[in-house]
Amino acid sequence: MSTPASPAKRVNLRTPDVMAAVQAQVESHYRSEVVEKLRATGGTLTCDGLTVRLAKQFGFCYGVERAIDLAYAAAKVFTDRRLFILGEIIHNPEVNEQIAALGIRNLIPPHQQAEVEDLTAEDVVIVPAFGTDVKTLGRIKELGCQVVDTTCGDVMSVWKRVRQNASDDVTSIIHGKATHEETKATASRAVVAGKGHYLIVLTLADTDYVCAFIRREGDKAAFLERFRGAYSEGFDPTLHLRRVGVANQTTMMRGETEEVQRRIEAAIKDRDGAEKARESFRFFDTICGATQERQDALRDMLAAPMDLLIVVGGYNSSNTAHLAEMGEAKLPTYFIRNATRLESRARVTHFDQHAKREVTTEGWLPDRPLTVGITAGASCPNNLIEETILRLYELHGVGAERLRGA
Ligand code: SF4
Repeated sequence: MSTPASPAKRVNLRTPDVMAAVQAQVESHYRSEVVEKLRATGGTLTCDGLTVRLAKQFGFCYGVERAIDLAYAAAKVFTDRRLFILGEIIHNPEVNEQIAALGIRNLIPPHQQAEVEDLTAEDVVIVPAFGTDVKTLGRIKELGCQVVDTTCGDVMSVWKRVRQNASDDVTSIIHGKATHEETKATASRAVVAGKGHYLIVLTLADTDYVCAFIRREGDKAAFLERFRGAYSEGFDPTLHLRRVGVANQTTMMRGETEEVQRRIEAAIKDRDGAEKARESFRFFDTICGATQERQDALRDMLAAPMDLLIVVGGYNSSNTAHLAEMGEAKLPTYFIRNATRLESRARVTHFDQHAKREVTTEGWLPDRPLTVGITAGASCPNNLIEETILRLYELHGVGAERLRGA
């Protein structure tokens, strides 16, 4: 067995000089004057019968801004060292392309460019905003790599909760996607020193299945089959649903997370009685502030009449997908990666979350006075929103110059 390398020295990347240079570069990549002006003037623009309304809160959140700043700072400070990242820094393909252009190579499939086992103590490894699992981080540290940890503080608060569950021998029921990087990182912290278990539920149907088992037990093999890949090693539903704590991926839909908590609590109360349930059930609201603000702002915007909604962002972005889901429930909604998807007045290519692929819709932009809402997830930069607004007006026959004048 190889001897672990000495831990890397801490390096402060956030010096005034580095951050000034980072800010300039980040702004040149992601800033939009059009979006800033529109935001500053109330978020509504009308020109030639087309009204665009921007949600009050949209786009980059504090956690994403910090992660991008740190990655850019690492590229400025460690100019003589190899730079790697544990997956996508955030869920936006355009931002990830910029990160790759800084010479930062990916260690995680599906866009893997290097192997963790080939790293040396000279290398720098960036941990993305969603964090990483305990085992991978431990290996990187063992190799002595310089770690630049951009994990969002809101994600770390969830870790604190599930770690506490583990040390109290409480099973964490995590409302999230078992394949999402953040949920994988959280789940890895729900088991500490051989204590604790986790179970990941995604839908209310999953939740009801778990609730039925809590109330009456049932077929253990069928339970384990249904949740394959979404529970800790050795998890046994007959033993490990006695004391549970509900936590969630930070970017879930608030109403749904509350419903998951409510249903599990009701099942525990039915089984144990209200008094004992105080001991055997706990929950913490771990939806992050940025996700909440974007959902609230969209809810407000949807209260007024609009003809259609455009949601801009990466298709694997959970918080963006939830915004699209909210829109779909009320009006025609097009979830697009960027402005190139607005192909013509007749045709738009957009992500269908149910089919999990891009689809094409014809006749999406009627030729009459229209009000179009626009929002974007926490990982979407303003320049992509600007391009979407400009393209929309272009399809409506209003060029960029005239629009800037308006
Ligand atoms: S969406 Fe929330 S948890 Fe994720 S980076 Fe932004 S603030 Fe942090």
